[in-house]
Amino acid sequence: MKRHLLDPQLSQKGYFPLDLSINNPFWKRNDVADISVCHEYIEQQRISHGAFLAIGGYLEQRALYQKNERFNKGIVRDIHLGVDIWAPAGTTVHAMYDGVVHSYAHNSDPGNYGPTLILQHNIDGQTIYTLYGHLSLDDVNKWEVGYRFRESEIIAHLGTPQENGGYSPHLHFQVMTDMKGYQGDFPGVAAKEELEQYKDIVLDPMSFLE
Ligand SMILES: [Zn+2]
Repeated sequence: MKRHLLDPQLSQKGYFPLDLSINNPFWKRNDVADISVCHEYIEQQRISHGAFLAIGGYLEQRALYQKNERFNKGIVRDIHLGVDIWAPAGTTVHAMYDGVVHSYAHNSDPGNYGPTLILQHNIDGQTIYTLYGHLSLDDVNKWEVGYRFRESEIIAHLGTPQENGGYSPHLHFQVMTDMKGYQGDFPGVAAKEELEQYKDIVLDPMSFLE
C-alpha cells in the first residue's frame, strides 16, 4: 500500500482482505450486524493472515445492510461504495493528499457514519473529494471549513461503536468527483439499480491507495 490512511506503524504490520460479502459462507451462519461477532471474526482473520489491518468492501454486496431498515426504504441499498479499513478505536487517520476541509458533520443516527470529514483536493488540475467516516467525536471540534491539511497529516481518530454509528471500529474511505450538493455526508451504500448514476462520481478508492 503506497499511501497510509491509518497510523503508519499499524500499516507496516500489513493489510489483509476482509470479506463481508453475502458470498462469504461465514455470514450465512453468523450475524454480521453483531459487533462482537464482527470483532471476533476480524481478530481471527488477523491471526490467520499474519497481518493487522483489514481492508476491503469496494462495490461489495453486504448482508449487513440487508438486515438494517435504514438501508431498506423502498429499495434495498446493500452495495458498499467506499473501502473500509478496520483497526482499533483511537487509531490515527491521515489525509490522503494535501487538501482543504470541504465540510464535516456528525451523522449520528444508528448505522450512519457518525463524525464525518470531507476534504477537497486538487490533483493535477482535477478536483476530487475524500470522505472519512466513523471518526471520533473529539475530532469534530478541531475541524473548520477551509482549513488546510497536508498529505499524511493526522486529521482524526477512529471512533468507538458508541460514537461511530454502531460498528466495530473502522474507517470508511470514499473518493468522489462531485459532491452533488452534499455537506458532511455522501451516500456510502447504494442499490444495484443506482450504481449507474454513481459510476463517474464515486471512484475506486483502492486505485488511490495502491
Ligand atoms: Zn464503509
